[in-house]
Amino acid sequence: MKLVIGLTGGIGSGKTTVANMFAAYGINIVDMDVIAHAIVEPGQPALQEIVSAFGAEVLGRDGSLNRQHLRKLVFADPAKRKQLEGILHPRIRAEARHQVDKATSPYCMMVIPLLFETGQNDLIQRILVVDTTPDLQLQRTMQRDNANREDVEKIIRVQVDRNARLAGADDIIENLGDEAALLAGVEALHQKYLSLAER
Ligand code: ATP
Repeated sequence: MKLVIGLTGGIGSGKTTVANMFAAYGINIVDMDVIAHAIVEPGQPALQEIVSAFGAEVLGRDGSLNRQHLRKLVFADPAKRKQLEGILHPRIRAEARHQVDKATSPYCMMVIPLLFETGQNDLIQRILVVDTTPDLQLQRTMQRDNANREDVEKIIRVQVDRNARLAGADDIIENLGDEAALLAGVEALHQKYLSLAER
């Protein structure tokens, strides 16, 4: 069985940055967020199912999914949320498995932002947590998204907290300094995963 590392961490912790560094070592990256977007592109069966379930009002003028509107529709309605998850989750998981099967690198990295919130542990063998402080998460996310403090703080609050993430980790990569320090951590883990993959 192929070694699959699950990469997770809070909003703005540095998951994408870390994944890009592994990718630069030739490691195949399977990104759940990328997959979640791809499966609802116009022409995809999941988008048709969403329209059948929620109505054409979830489509924008150009025929693409209006995520904001859909989010509002399911937000206050647990049954609708379940229905949406029933459409999306099996497809996301199937596509993730498919990409792992296709992967050619010695091990692969699956980016699962909400790993602890949603539990997808069956898809991976080890958990790598990108760890940083809530303050840095806030600063970096505000800067990246031009977002306001309250919105980001709210997201940080509803996600699993830092200690719970660390407690669930097999490996931890600290993202407290600059990108050079982060790369050093990635390099060390890459060596470790290569030797694990050989066994
Ligand atoms: P999200 O959960 O929101 O998708 P993420 O965990 O993928 O976020 P990134 O997008 O990788 O996080 O990082 C958040 C922002 O912080 C990005 O703009 C990134 O360039 C920047 N960043 C990440 N790590 C560092 C670092 N060590 N030094 C400086 N900037 C960093």
